[in-house]
Amino acid sequence: MFISIDMGGTTTRVASSKNLGKLYKIVKFPTNRDVRTQKLFIEDAILKVSDRGHVEYFCLGVPGTVDKDNKKFLRMPNYSQLNGKDFSELVDSKFGDNVYVENDATMAAVAEAMMGAGEDDEFKSVAYLSLGTGVGGARVEKEPFSYLSAEPGHQIISAEGRICKGCGQQGCLEAYASGRSFKELFKINAEDCTDKTIWRQYSSYLAIGLINIISMWRPDIIILGGSVANKFGIFQSLLVERLIVLDFFDIPPIVKSKIGDEAGVYGGFLITERVLNP
Ligand SMILES: [Zn+2]
Repeated sequence: MFISIDMGGTTTRVASSKNLGKLYKIVKFPTNRDVRTQKLFIEDAILKVSDRGHVEYFCLGVPGTVDKDNKKFLRMPNYSQLNGKDFSELVDSKFGDNVYVENDATMAAVAEAMMGAGEDDEFKSVAYLSLGTGVGGARVEKEPFSYLSAEPGHQIISAEGRICKGCGQQGCLEAYASGRSFKELFKINAEDCTDKTIWRQYSSYLAIGLINIISMWRPDIIILGGSVANKFGIFQSLLVERLIVLDFFDIPPIVKSKIGDEAGVYGGFLITERVLNP
């Protein structure tokens, strides 16, 4: 049995697969802010989805950057309790070397690129941006397969702008485009907002981030995931309008994620496959 864990800033999903293709079982729970409790919740979930059977390999996605060589969490903007801590703080050391730790948005990016909205062969280079509690993302190249875990949410889009709750810098994309920032800026949850004036303002912030991503990554497609992307139908045209005004580069297709909330765990299985069969 293989296990894929997607620990986001708000929700944690733990899934199992017998063949790294289909999901066998999945459970989800709110991410607990106490590390020891979170570790217990994860262990309990692993027992449930594996039917208490033997687990061959794990892929764990966390909301931040990691040092795989030294088995340490580096910077976790939305879960700073783990900054600088060993992987064993979250996953029991009895699992030894059979754990691969990756950024959570990277896992979702890999799934969307390989089997989701970016699946088509014409999209060789895929950029994925998750607009959730924070803003994460990654770039995936399909041939040959490689990916770049990055922190596009912490690119600065406004000099001396709003303080970013995730990292403490001023003017990060995340301080304008995350679900949490949406609520702070517009006093309404993105999920409940139908006001086009608000969405036009939101799109003008997001557009700056996307222009930067396009100018540096030159992707063939940009996929938007996370809870705010569920409203893509409302802001798609406003965003494109804004991008056309800012246009200097060719704007690639910008689409909503296809797999949705389970992209992260699927990405974990795809990464496991590549790690075990390099
Ligand atoms: Zn930031």
